[in-house]
Amino acid sequence: MALTYKEFQEKSGNQFDVMKTDPYTQYLEPFCILGNVYYVGDKKVGMHLIDTGDGLILIDTGFPGAEAMVVNSIWRLGFDPKDIKIILHTHGHVDHYGTTTFFQQIYGAKTYLGEADARLMEKHPETFEWNGRIITFTPDEMLHDGDVIKLGNTEIKVVKSAGHSPGAMSFFFPVYADGKTYLAGLPGGIGRNTLFKEAYEALHYPETTPEDFLESVDRIMEEPVTLWLGCHPTPFHNDGLKKRMQMMDDQDRPNPYVITPEEWRSYLKELRKGMKEIVDNGCI
Ligand SMILES: [Zn+2]
Repeated sequence: MALTYKEFQEKSGNQFDVMKTDPYTQYLEPFCILGNVYYVGDKKVGMHLIDTGDGLILIDTGFPGAEAMVVNSIWRLGFDPKDIKIILHTHGHVDHYGTTTFFQQIYGAKTYLGEADARLMEKHPETFEWNGRIITFTPDEMLHDGDVIKLGNTEIKVVKSAGHSPGAMSFFFPVYADGKTYLAGLPGGIGRNTLFKEAYEALHYPETTPEDFLESVDRIMEEPVTLWLGCHPTPFHNDGLKKRMQMMDDQDRPNPYVITPEEWRSYLKELRKGMKEIVDNGCI
């Protein structure tokens, strides 16, 4: 049975409210996921740091108020925040760009955001409210489907993943470790909260949002992903918190972030099924 918006809201609760009152309780020691890819996020939001050999790329920046945690995580790994050359965003929701202005203004990082989300920030800033304030930023560059972002040894392919937000983007890039090449895959926003009409209409998302959700999953399904990253570390995404525990408990076990392309596909098929039920139910 498909969930209605009311049921969905009741089920998900206010899981992010803690970031308004006690953000530091959500701190997580940073760690290396694989090769040159590091986790610098907290318990609520995934943030990834890539050491390209010619500067750092940061993907997503967390809630406003998380600045000190992100900076601390970067230092803890032995890197310097001033070496962040590029900040990419999976999508324009405040939990993913909340500290971006800080990095842009203090360290001069060049910031990228999907064009549709950047336009919404300009046109409807009132919909970007968090904790009583309007939080937006002006990206230095717009992201589009098919873009390739290059820095040092890293090339990131950008794939349009509209739905969760109209400018959401997924990222794919090779990671070299243990004499092998892995393909990292980070879905750009898959949360179903904006799949309901009441939600996406209030945010001025296009009427095509329900179909966009499904098409976006189809578009990334055949990527031969072998390193699974998530924009939140929860079971609905890549279950990163559990994977991190597994890594720490037993360093000899196979890396839990490493998967087969079949596992990637079957995860996305299940995800699509859940979305399709809501769409078939009229997104109410
Ligand atoms: Zn989001």
